[in-house]
Amino acid sequence: AHTPVTVIGLGLMGQALAGAFLKAGHPTTVWNRTSAKAAPLVAAGARSAPTVGDALTASPLTVVCLTDYDAVYELLDAEGVEPAGTTLVNLTSGSSGEARTAAAWAKRRGARYLDGAIMAVPPGIGTADAVILHSGPEEVFEAHAPTLGALGTVTHLGEDPGLASLYDVAGLAMMWSVLNAWLQGTALLATAGVDAVTYAPFARHIAAGVADWLPGYAEQIDKGSFPAEVSALETDARAMDHLIEESETLGVNAELPRLIKAMAARAIAAGHGGEQYPVLIEEFGKPQEG
Ligand code: NDP
Repeated sequence: AHTPVTVIGLGLMGQALAGAFLKAGHPTTVWNRTSAKAAPLVAAGARSAPTVGDALTASPLTVVCLTDYDAVYELLDAEGVEPAGTTLVNLTSGSSGEARTAAAWAKRRGARYLDGAIMAVPPGIGTADAVILHSGPEEVFEAHAPTLGALGTVTHLGEDPGLASLYDVAGLAMMWSVLNAWLQGTALLATAGVDAVTYAPFARHIAAGVADWLPGYAEQIDKGSFPAEVSALETDARAMDHLIEESETLGVNAELPRLIKAMAARAIAAGHGGEQYPVLIEEFGKPQEG
């Protein structure tokens, strides 16, 4: 028999989550502030709970997916709502601090709690492509992983409830940095009449090559030792000047190249010019100077 599950919040994402549970055969209870949004799910076999309190007690597991954490407290920290004894999986987006605060709140209220982050858009939910990150007590994740698996590829990152949010923003930093770097190159090549589609395979090859450096560079960071095995930072810095000059000469935006150079220049000024690129972690690990 499939485990019953409740979904609170039937926005674009919550509807997809509830739909995936139904499709996988879980008896699914739903609740939404605007109750009309439950209708298509009820037509597909869901039960619409009359109140949030009823929705929480209907299933051993409740997935919450609302706009923000304020909405979560407004609903679940209200009079007549009893989270004690249930398990909450909060897939609402927020900061690591909000996740840790929510975990402490759930503990005070006697509920088991996992915080999660959805790395997918609603149409992907229910397929293996939808990666959903969870953090919090491992035994809580293990107990519900078979049910949560209906939503996509579910992973547990660790006990600290803030981890899912941190991995989420780390992923965003990677995504936008790679895209910006690609757009910089695309703009440079456009000045020579090379179209984006022609340049893209080359850019992809470079990005994949750089991605292969990460495990080795990560070891240097964890050891705190950055011997220049392939290139010294001051050698890289000369190439950065070249990138800035070329961008300026060709009338292409040079903000990103200048930012790249500014961070390297600070590390060189701090005496790290003879070390390898990941020594820049010292610049990334503190607030901006000046
Ligand atoms: P929607 O705007 O479509 O839905 C928001 C939901 O929150 C609705 O169910 C809304 O209820 C409810 N809500 C908001 N405020 C309150 C409140 N004060 N009291 C009760 N209910 C409230 O957003 P999404 O479904 O797209 O997103 C939900 C969460 O999922 C967000 O945190 C988002 O960042 C995250 N997410 C979304 C992704 C996406 O692609 N859509 C991707 C990854 C994460 P009502 O219907 O009554 O307005």
